[in-house]
Amino acid sequence: MSKNSRELVSEINRLREEKNAIILAHNYQRPEIQDIADFVADSLALSIKARETDADVIVLCGVDFMAETAAIINPDKRVLLPDLSAKCPMAMMLSSDELLRYKEKYPEAGVVLYINSSAETKAYADCICTSANPIKVVNSMDSDTVIFGPDRNLAYYVSERTDKRIIPVPEHGICPTHHQLSMDDVATAMKRYPNAELVVHPETIPEVQEMANEIASTEGMVRYCRDSDAREFIIGTENGILYKLKVNIPEKKFYSCSELMICPSMKMITLQKLRDSLLEERYLIEVPENIALKARRSIERMLELS
Ligand code: SF4
Repeated sequence: MSKNSRELVSEINRLREEKNAIILAHNYQRPEIQDIADFVADSLALSIKARETDADVIVLCGVDFMAETAAIINPDKRVLLPDLSAKCPMAMMLSSDELLRYKEKYPEAGVVLYINSSAETKAYADCICTSANPIKVVNSMDSDTVIFGPDRNLAYYVSERTDKRIIPVPEHGICPTHHQLSMDDVATAMKRYPNAELVVHPETIPEVQEMANEIASTEGMVRYCRDSDAREFIIGTENGILYKLKVNIPEKKFYSCSELMICPSMKMITLQKLRDSLLEERYLIEVPENIALKARRSIERMLELS
């Protein structure tokens, strides 16, 4: 670690204590951010941790919808996102107007939205899900038809595992990082590492999901790789998870499906921005109370189910 990084780390530690702050980091964050965080996890576990903490300040090292979710369920805490341009492109693919059009078209349908969605759209959902619990959430709906968005690949994953009719909204919602992973990329990796099991995220395309030994959220991947008898794994998700897997399960080997599996938004958070965020208490994420009130219900419903 460089002298500059060491100084930043000690400043972050001092500020965290001074301000009674907690640093929550997503599994896709840079290694140095994962190392300094109080808690590193997937979206579901981060939401649970955000609800449980008694810190006054929550610094969310992730993307916009994660900080919004933390702010919605913690109206009395200051929630900071170290870089306002860390926006999830998938979350921007579904507007509340489009969701309302689907609700009009399918008035009997329940609405389940992936946590990777804006606060405005969450306000119109019956329940939120993450990639760790979509089947449980969908099956908990009273209706036989469920409008599900914004990721059509996750919608496919769910539709294969439930008796309910799933209506993806929007039709072409995807994660650009996961959607680009092709069958050829996977086949090349499998040829290179013939003894490895293939573990992919449900945001990958259906054809890639069909090739996998296991489809899981990032926390699900950590559990699966720890418990499996296999010693080597090819991982089909954002490459930030490889660091966590290697730290948590040092006795096994992990390979990336593709070097292109990088989410630019997740990589925007740096030590410098984290230090500045704590120092200047920026950027404060606030959700208007009329939206937060409705969105909170759909998030709380998921947390109760979890
Ligand atoms: S990996 Fe995909 S879904 Fe996750 S934040 Fe990046 S763009 Fe959004």
